[in-house]
Amino acid sequence: MNSMKLGLVGIGKIARDQHVPALARSIDFDLCAAASRHNRLEGVDHYPNVEEMLAARPELDAVSLCTPPDGRYEQAAAVLRAGKHLMLEKPPAATVSEIEALALMAAASGVTLCATWHSREAAEVDAARDWLAGKRIAAVRIRWKEDIRQWHPGQDWILAAGGFGVFDPGINALSIATQILPDPLVVTGAVLSVPTNRVSPIAASIALRTGDAPVAAEFDFLQTGQQSWDIEVDTDAGVLRLRDGGSRLELPDAAPLAGPNEEYARLYRRFAELVRAGESDVDLRPLQLVADAFLVGERRVVEPFDF
Ligand code: NAP
Repeated sequence: MNSMKLGLVGIGKIARDQHVPALARSIDFDLCAAASRHNRLEGVDHYPNVEEMLAARPELDAVSLCTPPDGRYEQAAAVLRAGKHLMLEKPPAATVSEIEALALMAAASGVTLCATWHSREAAEVDAARDWLAGKRIAAVRIRWKEDIRQWHPGQDWILAAGGFGVFDPGINALSIATQILPDPLVVTGAVLSVPTNRVSPIAASIALRTGDAPVAAEFDFLQTGQQSWDIEVDTDAGVLRLRDGGSRLELPDAAPLAGPNEEYARLYRRFAELVRAGESDVDLRPLQLVADAFLVGERRVVEPFDF
């Protein structure tokens, strides 16, 4: 099969850092067009928004959306209405009802919808899932603590309504946890710390359960120095430690495993496989857990935050 013509929408940090390099190496997709209000990609035909790109380039097979989640629904709906295959950055939408509607639209249009969770493609996530299969889980600790000023410089949208706040990175932890733990996760409580001058949380503590085991998740956007993207699982066979966003695995009585970062190459390969198989992949569980934390969460007002 020839490579598919793809349009990229929302030229910001993740588009430049990961999508463009992964597409440059992809044998499945040709990056033919880009849509963004202010930013351009050198050497790629540019359009100010997705609607104008779709109208001008009917030959496109697929579109990949890298805009922030709030506002992405309208862009995604336009792509699906145009009969194009669609890949979504995480989180797939600003609300659960939006992504459910998009999944129905994709099915009705007979196109592929691929809601990606890039952290699930980290090098050691599959090995962690395989090791945990059949083990008794006693407790889980999730620590996802990073410096918003380093990783999201000036991204005011992230702390606005629909921006997810610290759940923007935190949902990556939940995407891994839902992938590697044998039993479903259930949210039982949350404390959300919201700066006086913002709407979305800058830190959160979430209590969950998986089977009969407690799960404690700590998300923090104000971590300076050592950053942590770690999940620890106590089992009847010892402690599993999945570190560095899923790229390093420490198991009892074994040398650590640490594979290369191929997250976005794997995402685009998977998208191509889904298109060729005529299937979609829309797993809502991480987004549902975030929605549940917002539903039951106690909100605490904390000091103002400025970049
Ligand atoms: P970003 O740097 O702010 O880039 C997003 C781009 O989308 C902007 O440059 C902007 O370009 C466009 N855009 C369209 N509507 C917008 C709006 N209402 N507000 C702000 N920008 C708008 O954000 P990002 O870090 O690339 O994140 C985008 C998505 O990727 C998010 O869902 C995020 O969770 C996900 N992601 C980010 C990372 C990361 O490390 N940063 C990692 C993995 C996934 P124009 O102004 O030209 O339209």
